[in-house]
Amino acid sequence: MRALASGKRPFYTLRRLVAPLRLLQNPPVRLLLFPLLLCAAASPHAQTAVAVDVGHFIEEPGATSARGRPELDFNRELAAEIESAARSRGLRTMLIGADGFMSQLARRTAAAAGADFFLSVHHDSVQPHFLETWDFDRVERLFSDRYSGFSLFVSRKNRSLARSLACASAIGEALRGAGFSPSLYHADPIPGENKPFADRRNGVHYYDNLIVLKTARTPAVLLEAGVIVNRDEELKLQSEETRKRIAAAVAQGVGRCLTRF
Ligand SMILES: [Zn+2]
Repeated sequence: MRALASGKRPFYTLRRLVAPLRLLQNPPVRLLLFPLLLCAAASPHAQTAVAVDVGHFIEEPGATSARGRPELDFNRELAAEIESAARSRGLRTMLIGADGFMSQLARRTAAAAGADFFLSVHHDSVQPHFLETWDFDRVERLFSDRYSGFSLFVSRKNRSLARSLACASAIGEALRGAGFSPSLYHADPIPGENKPFADRRNGVHYYDNLIVLKTARTPAVLLEAGVIVNRDEELKLQSEETRKRIAAAVAQGVGRCLTRF
């Protein structure tokens, strides 16, 4: 207030602000600044890096789908799609575990130490006692059509719980906005589940001892994109169209939550 009342200072301040702009009259400086300004304008997240982790590895490929396809294959395809969607939103990305050989889980989070956010990509199964048998391609397979939908997990042992939860909620919200529904069954009070809700509306649960979540040095979220032992949902999750819709929603949620930090 006093500065404004003095009469001199606003003019002086204005001159100081305008002085660096004169540098722009210098052609070499203009040439150097132009690409930088262009990048900044094109990407609000130019410095923000997201680590996208392919859940599981070749020796332990996770769940098996109703038609016998390993979860690792679903995770690889979706993680690559999420990485590409995140890049097209201007985020920097790193893909972790894509070669299928990263068997030590703590190495994944160590590899992501330079990132701002860690997302582990998985596909879901159900408790074994819900599984039934059917024949597919003359092979007896296990399935359950009881549950479908996505789930998100955060760990209260992660050092950035509030940020992890903000991102999980933003991802769930974006997935719901794209027409997907949370599965909700991981909160059921039965052995093997009991993962309390952190944000029921957006399908987020606490799962404190998940290694990648608790060892991450960054905010971290684990996504179960859908239930691959469900016969209908498996087909949807395998379609490129669904994969792109999931990836676009996940990238949108991540982008939104990271701009809030
Ligand atoms: Zn998994």
